[in-house]
Amino acid sequence: MDEQPPQDEELGIDTLLQHLGEEQHFAGAVVQPLFQNSLFVFDRCADLERVLRSEVEPFAYTRISNPTTALAEKKIAALEGTEACRLFSSGMGAISAAILSTVRAGSHVVCTNAAYGPTKGFLLEYLPKFGVETTLVDGTDIHAVEAAMRECTTLLYLETPGSVTFAIQDLEALVRLAKERGVSTICDNSTATPMFQRPASFGVDLVVHSVTKYLAGHSDIVAGCVCGSRERVHALTWSEGQYLGASIDPFAAWLLTRSLRTLPIRMQRHQQSATEVALFLRSHPAVEIVNYPGLTDHPARALIEKQMTGASGMLSFQLKNSSKETAFAFCESLRLFQIGVSWGGHESLAIPVPLLDGETWVIRLSVGLETASDLIADLRRVLDAVGE
Ligand SMILES: *Cc1c(COP(=O)(O)O)cnc(C)c1O
Repeated sequence: MDEQPPQDEELGIDTLLQHLGEEQHFAGAVVQPLFQNSLFVFDRCADLERVLRSEVEPFAYTRISNPTTALAEKKIAALEGTEACRLFSSGMGAISAAILSTVRAGSHVVCTNAAYGPTKGFLLEYLPKFGVETTLVDGTDIHAVEAAMRECTTLLYLETPGSVTFAIQDLEALVRLAKERGVSTICDNSTATPMFQRPASFGVDLVVHSVTKYLAGHSDIVAGCVCGSRERVHALTWSEGQYLGASIDPFAAWLLTRSLRTLPIRMQRHQQSATEVALFLRSHPAVEIVNYPGLTDHPARALIEKQMTGASGMLSFQLKNSSKETAFAFCESLRLFQIGVSWGGHESLAIPVPLLDGETWVIRLSVGLETASDLIADLRRVLDAVGE
């Protein structure tokens, strides 16, 4: 009796990241080639006409689609458990396209106050000129979210864990609230990554990423993506994707496919080291608060267990002395943690960030892939010098 080869749905995610979409090899090359070309040529005009009319494949023009890009998109869709994914030239390219696909003049948006700064800027400072209003709310307070909803609300925008303090929003409850009102939902999943959280499994319509962070993971490309149903992703490809043109370069997509192959093992290591760092920080007398969703006594523990399977390498902590000056001096005294924006790469980073009150400063760490005991020694040296 012939055994059927396993279907994609039955394979583990680590297997899919190595093989999905790579059934054909060019000249036997084990690595898929880089299609660094802007256009594709045809023997017959009628074939070109058919491609241009609506189909994404076969390919005609790289602003819309490209085989190298399509391969990375296929793997990310498998990771997020969505029908489709569309890559963009940056996280903000993806986020602005996703938001624009859910609003029109007169629309109202409810957005968590824990969202990434430029996302809030786009909603609060840019979109009003097109007649779109936004209310920021504490996304951890379901009643506040409900109270902010209006008749004309078309979008609930979430980011969980949120920026800076990694506050957890209840995906299941918030999606229910939105669906009852016919409101679309978007969730920024950059921090947890699909290794640890799949917002689409809770009914979120569009999952967005700064691919620049963990999905790429090596601090060498800037990219973003939108994941969702075939229908929604197709529609935004041919409107916001085509008209705003924030298309990813094929070389960035090629590097991304290489990065995705190691995402599961990188995320395990980021999580393991960040847990060790968080436990160390919490034990130090100079530290007031540690914000890390991986701590077993996190205040939102039940919610974390419901919707997440891990906690990545992002955390923040507040010193007993939470002044800006102390936070700056702290970061400047570290040796292995470098000062810089962005995060999610191989290297550990530290940055001082103010809380929403503008006065309390925390230090955000991106725990990289260095030896954890070296990172802890670096932090211990500076913490001991700070004293209580
Ligand atoms: C960095 C970041 C973005 C923006 O992504 P870019 O790739 O820098 O455009 C969006 N969301 C979160 C949570 C981020 O950290």
